[in-house]
Amino acid sequence: MRPGEPMDRRDLIEWLRESDEARLEELWARADATRRVHVGDEVHLRGLIEVSNHCVRRCAYCGINVSNSEVKRYRMSAEEILACARQARELGYGTVVLQAGEDYGLTRGAVADVVRRIKDETGLAVTLSLGERSDEDLRSWRAAGADRYLLRFETSDQELYARIHPSLPGRLSDRFVLLRRLRELGYEVGSGVMIGIPGQTYATLADDLQSFVELDLDMIGVGPWLPHPVTPLGRGELPPAADSEQVPNTELMTYKVVALTRLLCPEANIPSTTALATLNLASGRELGLTRGANVVMPNLTPVEYRALYEIYPGKACIRETANECVHCLSGRIVRMGRQIGRGSGGRRRGRG
Ligand code: SAH
Repeated sequence: MRPGEPMDRRDLIEWLRESDEARLEELWARADATRRVHVGDEVHLRGLIEVSNHCVRRCAYCGINVSNSEVKRYRMSAEEILACARQARELGYGTVVLQAGEDYGLTRGAVADVVRRIKDETGLAVTLSLGERSDEDLRSWRAAGADRYLLRFETSDQELYARIHPSLPGRLSDRFVLLRRLRELGYEVGSGVMIGIPGQTYATLADDLQSFVELDLDMIGVGPWLPHPVTPLGRGELPPAADSEQVPNTELMTYKVVALTRLLCPEANIPSTTALATLNLASGRELGLTRGANVVMPNLTPVEYRALYEIYPGKACIRETANECVHCLSGRIVRMGRQIGRGSGGRRRGRG
């Protein structure tokens, strides 16, 4: 396949298997040029607040799943969340992201209240990432002013999805229905997958990429699967795919997926994820930003809770305060010749 031509499933698989450095340079350059044309040079900062690590689910990859009895559980108060949101505004971020395990202690009313207060007091865009919640919850939070919702589908292989999500009747098709429903409710919708989950094949990953297009996602987050030793996947209890088929959970594979995502979904907001920075603290985030990404999600969670939100081990920047984090990041972005995004940084349709 030549640069500039549309990509079908076979081309995607070929790119995912590509190892020739010159060809990969072409891929990075094309993704970077597409990023510049469609979403510009601004890098949007979304302040991440990990509001609770309680969770009812048993996701086989996630360190805070309900079976982990070792981790101390916390849930931030409304006041604590508000304080983080004020800090986000002072630091010049356009958005706060409230993320948590699937925690029904975060009640419909409490979340709606906190969203309303954040909107009233700070005017920031609010993104929620609270798992699979009821239609009433999602409607109420939207009415309270929430702008966006993130819910990764994790993999488009139904069988693999069922294997890594053993609890509850939750099926992959439910997640796709929910993503469409979120759009009907007027949310900007984000999703994504992990890269290199044991059992994930190149063909599946190509399907994942095509699903991004079909779902017409506004935001797409992809990151490497990072083994957590307290989980079934981390303990090696679930089977990998055959050698030549298994996708590796590497930095390089993640860049390929970021770049291909940008080519397939040119207008989407694509973060250079913390999971990527975890694999390469020195330059993972920057490389992501030069290979298709245009968003970074600095962590605003109070330091005393941050280590407890251990979805995977060794998370980048776990001890930095929000202030240190923003200075480090802004410096990096400006040195790359990019600018910090202004405003809420929502999806802009139909440019370029
Ligand atoms: N409870 C919410 C938020 C989950 S955390 C939800 O289910 O949507 C956000 C994302 O982190 C998950 O969607 C998953 O893709 C990623 N994640 C979780 N555990 C991980 C691990 N061990 N390695 C890499 N990414 C992981």
